[in-house]
Amino acid sequence: MSADDEDLRKRISHINERIKRGDVVVLTAEEFKRKVRDGCEDELSEVDVVTTGTCGLMSGTAAIFSIEVAERGAFERAEAAWLNGVPAFPGPCPNERLGVIDVTVFGTSRSSDRYGGGHLFHDIVSGKEVDVEVRAAGGSVFRRTATVEDFMFARLFTTRSAFRNYMGFVNTDEGIVKTIFSVSGLRGPLKEVSVCGCGEINPLENDPEMRIIRKGTKIMVNGAEGLITGEGTRSTPERRNIAVVAEMKKMNPEFMGGFITSAGPECITSIAVPVPNIGNMRHLRVLDEEVKMPIAEIQRRTQIAESNYGRVWQNTSLEIQFDSAKCLKCDVCAVERKCPVNAFRRDVGIDKKCFNCGFCVFACEGGAFTGDLGSVEVEGRNIPVTLRLSSREKARKLCILLKKMIESGEFMLSLCS
Ligand code: SF4
Ligand code: SF4
Repeated sequence: MSADDEDLRKRISHINERIKRGDVVVLTAEEFKRKVRDGCEDELSEVDVVTTGTCGLMSGTAAIFSIEVAERGAFERAEAAWLNGVPAFPGPCPNERLGVIDVTVFGTSRSSDRYGGGHLFHDIVSGKEVDVEVRAAGGSVFRRTATVEDFMFARLFTTRSAFRNYMGFVNTDEGIVKTIFSVSGLRGPLKEVSVCGCGEINPLENDPEMRIIRKGTKIMVNGAEGLITGEGTRSTPERRNIAVVAEMKKMNPEFMGGFITSAGPECITSIAVPVPNIGNMRHLRVLDEEVKMPIAEIQRRTQIAESNYGRVWQNTSLEIQFDSAKCLKCDVCAVERKCPVNAFRRDVGIDKKCFNCGFCVFACEGGAFTGDLGSVEVEGRNIPVTLRLSSREKARKLCILLKKMIESGEFMLSLCS
């Protein structure tokens, strides 16, 4: 163990003592940054833990389920399976003649253009009934319905998540490009930009050297306790990401789900990490304005400009508002039809599923939605942000939840080698 590790471990153990005594000082990343902006240096040094978080489309999310579908001996092994029509991959264990299937479901797999793995994970965690269908070797088919309690095992994992300074995307060509980074297709040339990333409150922005955020560290995934399993695929020192794992049965559906893009359903995942304010954790002071946001061209995926998250998350609207008085009662409501998380009914308004993506601000015929999403500069032009694929608002709520759990002693800090 390095001297730095030993020191960190001692300090974390000291914080855990304070948690047990009930006098730990925890701030959310948003609260901490506010004090940084206000120059409250004395108060900053009294903070023990900062809760950081991110919520967004995380394509590298999948789940493993185990469920009984037939009597023992009813079939030899499963060849294919579907949960609410979403393809599931049987195995790797064949569970020969046990009547039980082990399956892996990708968050990006889909049963239709409007329903995919992310929706399925949300429905399972919400306690809804799910249709399970299995085709066994030899062709026989077995069906059942199940709720989360019927799953013998339900574990979510990611191959990469919580990317540090993610990206903005533009189309530099004429026409529209269908992409997971747009709801209706990204319009060019340079008509709009869609952005991803939670900026200064993202866990890895606050610990880019991964001193605390490392293999085995206890974190929160979709509101449930989880663990970091290591760096994720495509993680680089400049743009780190992590792989995580967590049990699904204790997750909170508010922080997860499906999101319909112009290239099909995607998966929303949320991650929160407590970062102790110890040693020289200087990155805890990072602000949106200092967090780089590369802007990439969507077709070739090459960077063509650089902006920062201050342009997206400072002096903009975290929440989108609907004014029913301005609604024109159109024959077909573009927002009802295309809201990527189905959060809007014109007779009811916006419900709590809202991701605050901002799509409705530009799609509504009557201008009944308001929200400033910011803009970025590309090639000397000011390009409006028309879609946010990360929800700072939900990430903020997750940070608050983690803060409360630490303060109440339900969540202790960890540091693994
Ligand atoms: S598109 Fe806008 S104005 Fe038209 S019905 Fe929908 S909410 Fe109302
Ligand atoms: S901001 Fe508008 S389009 Fe986006 S999720 Fe909320 S209601 Fe739907």
